[in-house]
Amino acid sequence: MSNQKPRVVVLGAGYAGMMTTKKLTKLLRPEQAEIVLVNKHNYHYQTTWLHQVAAGTINQNQVRMMISDVIDTKHRVNLIQDSVLEIKKDEKTVVLENGELQYDILVVGLGFESATFGISGMKENAFAIQTIDSSRLIYDHIEYQFSRYKNEEGNKEELLTILVGGSGFTGIEFVGELTESVKKLCRKYDIPRYKARIINVEAAPSILPGFDEELVTYAKSSLEARGVEFRTGTMIKECKEDGFVVGEGEEIKAGTVVWTGGVQANSILGESGFEITKGRVTVNNDLRAPGYRDIFILGDCAWVMDKENDRPYPPNAQNAMQQADTAAQNIASLIYGGPMQEYKFENKGTVASLGGSEAIGTVFDRQLFGKPAKTMKNVVDNRYLFMLGGPGLVLKKGKLSLF
Ligand code: FAD
Ligand code: NAD
Repeated sequence: MSNQKPRVVVLGAGYAGMMTTKKLTKLLRPEQAEIVLVNKHNYHYQTTWLHQVAAGTINQNQVRMMISDVIDTKHRVNLIQDSVLEIKKDEKTVVLENGELQYDILVVGLGFESATFGISGMKENAFAIQTIDSSRLIYDHIEYQFSRYKNEEGNKEELLTILVGGSGFTGIEFVGELTESVKKLCRKYDIPRYKARIINVEAAPSILPGFDEELVTYAKSSLEARGVEFRTGTMIKECKEDGFVVGEGEEIKAGTVVWTGGVQANSILGESGFEITKGRVTVNNDLRAPGYRDIFILGDCAWVMDKENDRPYPPNAQNAMQQADTAAQNIASLIYGGPMQEYKFENKGTVASLGGSEAIGTVFDRQLFGKPAKTMKNVVDNRYLFMLGGPGLVLKKGKLSLF
């Protein structure tokens, strides 16, 4: 590190990037380190609410907030609104769309992108829930298809079908929200509800593979009762503009096709020469990239191994936020001197909404169903807002119904 005060550069203002930046402002005095945060937008958005934007059950403005409202970008953090193109790790330089940036310590929190596993036509033809803009496009498209149905001649009932590939948590939360918005769209366009279909296709024998059986059974029957059709044990082989090709060549046609079949690290990491295993960079337990004492990789870009179970921790928001704590502490140790901490994920549970007042979850090993689960989901969502911006942010952006 140079004699000048070190520059810590954080890439991405998601859960990992925002929380790391926030913690760094508390751990490092301005005369000790410069903090730079680079993000595509001047706002931060809650990735965990994007399925609601995609289904049109929340206004995108509730999902996002100006970064300057929660981080001191006037006096403490230099916010650069730009797109990262490449990390030149051996030159300690980040290439941006509009220039280059040197760093002493780098934190990579560039999040995820949709993983299509080479399925033919998926990238080109399916929508994906990835950003505010890509999510908003999905709802706009669904509504456009309903409007077309009313205005175009001929039997075009497929326009009213929404096909969702993959029933992990994203797919299931999304179809849950769709049950609400499809009901409203049918009313708005004078279409009988039975004509609109929501079909979820999953390769595994059950939805939410690996999740508690009782909760899965509850989720499936709750969603089916509200009109979701499931095709489990059905492998998607190809995606066309108007639907999926599954199994032995059967075509399922739809007016809207959405892929929620998996995610991987932002491709900038692979393109910048980091070694990628199963879509992410496996980092050391102090969260640094192997071989680089000055690069931390967090959140959905990273695998961190759970040594006790010999498998990686789940790539979720809870994990990304907890990593921010360890990363900020370790950055302070690099600057002041001190031992590196090993990251350990403390799993507080998982809660998934199913649309309306329905949800499922396990919290501290207790199963939750229906309204109590939904209330817990709101508590979890609001807790994050509280950690980021205190009670003011909860009041402004929080989910305050069902309390
Ligand atoms: P992100 O939060 O995705 O942030 C990445 C940031 O980097 C963004 O601000 C983006 O704009 C910025 N960025 C990306 N590329 C560039 C670039 N080239 N240049 C500059 N900036 C860039 N997890 C849970 O624990 N609970 C949940 O309930 C939950 N619900 C989810 C619901 C949905 C619909 C989805 C998709 C995911 C959900 N997850 C949930 C998973 C969770 O959202 C992710 O694990 C989490 O967002 C990862 O945080 P991150 O900081 O790594 O990335
Ligand atoms: P995922 O990988 O968890 O689920 C993808 C699903 O798609 C799997 O069930 C898989 O079997 C299926 N699939 C893959 N290829 C297929 C094919 N060819 N045909 C049919 N089905 C196929 O991905 P996700 O749901 O996007 O979740 C990503 C991460 O975000 C996970 O870590 C998840 O836990 C987290 N997340 C958490 C929550 C929550 O806690 N409420 C909500 C959303 C996402």
